[in-house]
Amino acid sequence: MRYSIFGLMRQALRGHRDWTPAWRDAVPKKNYDVVVVGGGGHGLATAYYLAKVHGITNVAVLEKGWIGSGNAGRNTTIIRSNYLLPGNLPFYELSMQLWEGLEQDLNYNAMVSQRGVLNLYHSDAQRDAYARRGNAMRMHGVDAELLDAQAVKRMAPFLDFDNGRFPIRGGLLQRRGGTARHDAVVWGYARAASLRGVDIIQNCEVTGFIEQAGRVVGVVTTRGEIKASKVGLAVAGNTSRLANLAGLRLPIESHVLQAFVSEAIKPCIPGVVTFGAGHFYISQSDKGGLVFGGDPDGYNSYAQRGNLPMFEEVCESAMALMPSLGRLRVLRSWGGVMDMSMDGSPIIDFTPRPGLYLNAGWCYGGFKATPASGWCFAHLLARDEAHEVAREYRLDRFATGHLIDEKGQGAQPNLH
Ligand SMILES: Cc1cc2nc3c(=O)[nH]c(=O)nc-3n(C[C@H](O)[C@H](O)[C@H](O)COP(=O)(O)OP(=O)(O)OC[C@H]3O[C@@H](n4cnc5c(N)ncnc54)[C@H](O)[C@@H]3O)c2cc1C
Repeated sequence: MRYSIFGLMRQALRGHRDWTPAWRDAVPKKNYDVVVVGGGGHGLATAYYLAKVHGITNVAVLEKGWIGSGNAGRNTTIIRSNYLLPGNLPFYELSMQLWEGLEQDLNYNAMVSQRGVLNLYHSDAQRDAYARRGNAMRMHGVDAELLDAQAVKRMAPFLDFDNGRFPIRGGLLQRRGGTARHDAVVWGYARAASLRGVDIIQNCEVTGFIEQAGRVVGVVTTRGEIKASKVGLAVAGNTSRLANLAGLRLPIESHVLQAFVSEAIKPCIPGVVTFGAGHFYISQSDKGGLVFGGDPDGYNSYAQRGNLPMFEEVCESAMALMPSLGRLRVLRSWGGVMDMSMDGSPIIDFTPRPGLYLNAGWCYGGFKATPASGWCFAHLLARDEAHEVAREYRLDRFATGHLIDEKGQGAQPNLH
């Protein structure tokens, strides 16, 4: 069933009785060409591009809960490509270009909204760092504008420009950045992959790997054994746990990141705004709620919930940036488990186990990467070679020292 305005009108006239399920709830087969573990955005995008770009349709996506129940359905939906380092910029720009055509490609309304991402600066040194980042972006053909305080004031008059400690001096704006509706992205990829023959299998946890002569040839699941020529891991916060089952110890730690949403108010925040003197970012959803977040909790955890001290810290930053927020009520908060790599950049690579491939290390920036991650992981799985924009996302860079430390924080994952 193709979605269109005419289809919607037809269904409306028939009382919406004839909609078909968006994707098939498949029963696992005994054998697949590729099994992708993890039904988040990355796993589903990988399956979709395997089918669409490489013609490999004998593919299963195995999800231990329901698709989108992990970070894909818990993030704050920000998409952007305002990166600095050559290892990252072309990858995230490919992602942005895929976002720009995603809804037409998937025939699904993912509510991609290029409402702009504005990173504020509060000192001369920070302005210079943003000027450098903006120049790097423009040299790679990515849009970037350095704004002074007056220009920021015209866009966002509600900010506290004269804050005694953190006066706002300007910002780096990427107009093509913005937001997309996270769960619609999951559903859109699932539907499009399923239409091309991919099996989406929910409530199917991978609990082990089947090996033959040192090669991974399948997975053990709660719904039986499933053989596969290739197995791809895209399990985000569960990566270290699952890789452990295959005898691998990865340079990844799991940390919780929380997000918060306020009661709905009239439209006031035009795009995404990030505070430059603390870790705080905010945008407004189409329903009117203000969506915001900050740093990850500082300890390792696999629990999908956070703690109150971090909530307090996020609110302190919020008040320093936008004191009017103090009168709003917070409706909900939640947490997701992130796969923090040691340099803050992802891994899309082979593993030392033949037959087992890895997509991980997304930290708290993996939603924006969803299309390019799927595109590049599918390329690796189909052709056994890295895609050109993902060549530096190698697993062995932590041994060889070729780190992609975008933030310059060193090997302390919770700071990336
Ligand atoms: C609060 C929060 C805010 C964020 N905000 C942003 C943002 O604004 N912008 C941005 O770019 N990124 C953001 N992120 C990061 C982003 O959400 C993640 O990097 C990204 O979603 C990870 O990829 P995924 O969608 O495939 O992961 P997930 O959705 O977590 O998918 C992994 C899936 O694997 C499944 N799984 C795990 N173990 C097994 C198993 N053994 N067997 C079968 N299935 C298994 C899980 O159930 C899960 O569904 C945020 C994250 C959080 C938590």
